[in-house]
Amino acid sequence: TLPVMALVGHPNVGKSTLFNRIAEERLAIVDDMPGVTRDRLYAQADWLSREFNIIDTGGLTLEDEPIEEQIYAQAQIAIDEADVIVFVGDVTTGVTSLDEQIARILFQSKKPIVLAVNKVDSQARKSEIFEFYSLGLGEPLAVSGEHGKGIGDVLDAVVANF
Ligand code: GDP
Ligand code: MG
Repeated sequence: TLPVMALVGHPNVGKSTLFNRIAEERLAIVDDMPGVTRDRLYAQADWLSREFNIIDTGGLTLEDEPIEEQIYAQAQIAIDEADVIVFVGDVTTGVTSLDEQIARILFQSKKPIVLAVNKVDSQARKSEIFEFYSLGLGEPLAVSGEHGKGIGDVLDAVVANF
């Protein structure tokens, strides 16, 4: 069976956008509307001739549950199923208290974690990612799912942990 990477993070940080980039498919539906669960959850991808599966845990929503409960459930699925977890932050919001809570759960799992900070669309925003060091998950990697920037660095870190 193929190794598995899972994307975890707040709604709207750009997990589905990154999922599509990594899968190089347009099958996952990027949706701004809260409560709409049409995202594709699984895809196969490869990087440097390493094949793996991707899970977008953001598509796994528990209707009517508070957002915290949904994200805890998503983090638990990632912990159970993934070989490497990509925790996605959003440079436009900075570190949130929910980020800190998720980071604590992921850290305790002892799974390899790659920290990607999304929406770094311009060079000017790059210095803003450093506040994500405070999560204690190691080096934050700048990405822009929308512009397809920085994704190679994330995938290098992912496959290095398979
Ligand atoms: P998800 O809820 O984590 O799956 O997030 P989505 O992938 O659905 O993206 C949420 C919103 O963020 C959408 O409006 C995307 O267009 C936007 N978005 C995603 N990636 C980027 C990015 O790199 N830069 C910017 N500026 N917006 C992005
Ligand atoms: Mg999504």
